[in-house]
Amino acid sequence: MSRKVVVLGGGQAGLQTALLLKKLSSSLEVALVERNVRVVYKPLLTWVAVGKTDPENITIDISDVKKAGVKLYPQAVESIDLNNRVVRLSKSELQYDYLVIALGAEPNEEAVKGLKKDNLLAWTLNGALGLREALASGRSRRVVVGAASPPFPCPPAPFELAGLVRKFLGKSLGEKASVKAVTFEEKPLMGLGPEVSSSLVDLLERSGIELLSGFKVVEVDTNAKRVISESGDAIPYDLLSLVPPFKPPKPVTDLEIAGPGGWLVTDPYKGFRTRLGEVFAVGDIALPPFGAPMSGFLGSYMARSAAREILAEAAGVSVDHKERAYAECFVDHEDDGIGIYCDFTDVIYGGGKPHCHIMAHGTLVGEYKAALERSWRKTLRNFIEGA
Ligand SMILES: Cc1cc2nc3c(=O)[nH]c(=O)nc-3n(C[C@H](O)[C@H](O)[C@H](O)COP(=O)(O)OP(=O)(O)OC[C@H]3O[C@@H](n4cnc5c(N)ncnc54)[C@H](O)[C@@H]3O)c2cc1C
Repeated sequence: MSRKVVVLGGGQAGLQTALLLKKLSSSLEVALVERNVRVVYKPLLTWVAVGKTDPENITIDISDVKKAGVKLYPQAVESIDLNNRVVRLSKSELQYDYLVIALGAEPNEEAVKGLKKDNLLAWTLNGALGLREALASGRSRRVVVGAASPPFPCPPAPFELAGLVRKFLGKSLGEKASVKAVTFEEKPLMGLGPEVSSSLVDLLERSGIELLSGFKVVEVDTNAKRVISESGDAIPYDLLSLVPPFKPPKPVTDLEIAGPGGWLVTDPYKGFRTRLGEVFAVGDIALPPFGAPMSGFLGSYMARSAAREILAEAAGVSVDHKERAYAECFVDHEDDGIGIYCDFTDVIYGGGKPHCHIMAHGTLVGEYKAALERSWRKTLRNFIEGA
């Protein structure tokens, strides 16, 4: 009898897990649950926010996965019953032999007092479009961009947004526009090492962005239009785009396999299984317990690892999972930028540090970023069309 794998979430990690499983084993039954059939390639949300690209260029319709033999359930996951191995969806329910949870993470704007009211968060498609509209209105001269506190997807991305907004406003307002980048860290991206941190500081300076390090946002005073730090410093804004800490989505937080903060705890040596052997977790939902950043590259690597483990078990063999876990991230400021490469293998497998370096500088950084999106689209097409 064929075994049934249910994958929850069709974003970067879940979609790849489902397609890979089906590509490598025709005998497995694979079901994918995703509430939005138009899936977003998130690294280009910053581009949408400044009108550098449009939503249709960063989304893909995943209805086609059925061509690859994956059964799509375009519904919301409402609850997960681990004891009875059942997932309850908005219109049906699914029984599983294996469950792969890839539901990502959600912004928690309530975590910062006053933030939700004025914030234009570009980390979702609607949010990016809202920021784009506000920028295009031409009424904002003093912009504050940054991150309030971890964890959140792609720590370098707020600094990209700062540069793109500076370029955007510079075209119409010149020197009258001011963009401030705030970070809770003593030095930006210091966790990725001194080379990355100092290259980023230099880039921000060249792009005319004022950097406020060690600025831990505790409150947004929406009446006075000021962002307030833990030490009582205040920055005025006309337009605010702050990334709040992210939280796990609701169907996951109360599960017995959730650890501190509601994130799912997994074993990398066992293909990211949770302590319930038949349940796996990949992508953003399972990265915080390792102290690793939420990253699409790491999500893809976890997807490959989980798929291999499920297939190996079905075939009665064992596999060695210790594969290089790396991520790339680009900070594109249009005519300048940096590309960051980090190897997180020691972080994932042993609580060590990441090993990072700058892999690209200058005007080509934006081209690399666009190439990543094309590669994501092509990989999915190849999976679906069986190439
Ligand atoms: C601005 C920005 C720039 C980035 N740049 C980079 C970069 O340069 N490099 C890099 O490696 N990473 C980057 N990332 C991070 C990367 O996009 C994420 O780490 C990646 O998308 C996570 O994949 P995931 O599958 O875990 O989650 P997601 O892609 O968020 O997918 C989760 C899916 O689950 C679905 N879902 C959630 N709840 C439910 C429910 N109840 N029912 C049904 N479906 C549900 C959602 O609709 C979603 O499609 C960036 C992210 C952002 C926001």
